[in-house]
Amino acid sequence: MYNLERYHKLKSMVSALRRVELGFFPSELYYLENLSEKYEVNLYLKRDDLSGFSTFGGNKIRKLEFLFGDIFNQGAEHIFTFGATQSNHALQTALACRRYNLNPILYLVDVIGEGLAEPKANILLDQILDADIKLIEMREDEDEFEAMGRAEELALKQAEEISERESDYYLIPPGGASPIGTVGFINAYLELKKEEFLQNLNFKNIFLAVGTGGTLAGLSAANSYLEDEINVQGMNVTFKDDHYPAEMAELASKALKSAGIEFEVKADEINTDNNYVGDGYEIPSTEANKALKLFAKHEGIFLDPVYTAKAAAGMLDYLKQGRIEKGSDLLFWHTGGTNALFAEKKILGDLV
Ligand SMILES: *Cc1c(COP(=O)(O)O)cnc(C)c1O
Repeated sequence: MYNLERYHKLKSMVSALRRVELGFFPSELYYLENLSEKYEVNLYLKRDDLSGFSTFGGNKIRKLEFLFGDIFNQGAEHIFTFGATQSNHALQTALACRRYNLNPILYLVDVIGEGLAEPKANILLDQILDADIKLIEMREDEDEFEAMGRAEELALKQAEEISERESDYYLIPPGGASPIGTVGFINAYLELKKEEFLQNLNFKNIFLAVGTGGTLAGLSAANSYLEDEINVQGMNVTFKDDHYPAEMAELASKALKSAGIEFEVKADEINTDNNYVGDGYEIPSTEANKALKLFAKHEGIFLDPVYTAKAAAGMLDYLKQGRIEKGSDLLFWHTGGTNALFAEKKILGDLV
């Protein structure tokens, strides 16, 4: 059981924040009959891959609902954000901007080094949306985080050139992982608790892919504040160092604070795992591609090679190792990203 009094408090505090209704929520809680039988658990998907509102949604829509509430409070018109060239977050930000007649400016780091010659998947859609795209090529002595840092400096410079008034522009961090964006996943956790109750379920574990960490921080914040017993297990898709749980605990606490709740999430309440990253971000792994094909073949469900397939490979390995109780209710948060199936071959690897 969890703390019901805190549930109602958190729900009313989050509901009081300004938010735009971008997605189709609650997202479906979807039972996977064949994989449940195969692994002797009750496996459900939380279908944020179908979040709407456009054809290609995903987990960033939940964060953008609260970020755009904040943008409207501020009155900004020029919206900057950051990611890799195939960033799902950048695409979803551009979609939301078009929906609300704002100007999307995307700083995209070319992690895979394919440029813009033959745009595919998200970078193609960004162009159809006529987003202002700034391509950041990686320097030889730089990793993707350093390149992203450089992109943020360049964006701030451009923002200051566009307008002298700070309120005219808004910089959304990579993945939308600001405290206010993270509230989207506090809200998502509350949504899940309601579905769980109505459908008489009792989840023991939630698995999800971790990129910037806003999704994990939001779910963990609500989980910790509600004193809930569910284990929220993040699976990293980029290598994280030992400071990472503390950083995510801080983000989780700040997200609660932006909803008006003073509560400290502790680093040991943040669970992540580096074992299923493979060789790095946007580098395909054999295990992930196997998991992707398994979901397709047994359920007719698509995952993506960059995020969800790596997380699913981790979850399947936990199942094989007996780290998940047989017969228990198990949730995999499907964060979307399947447009990557139409991305560059470098991202797909040995998939076909
Ligand atoms: C961004 C993204 C994630 C990771 O979410 P974070 O909040 O950045 O950790 C997972 N899956 C998909 C498909 C994504 O696009």
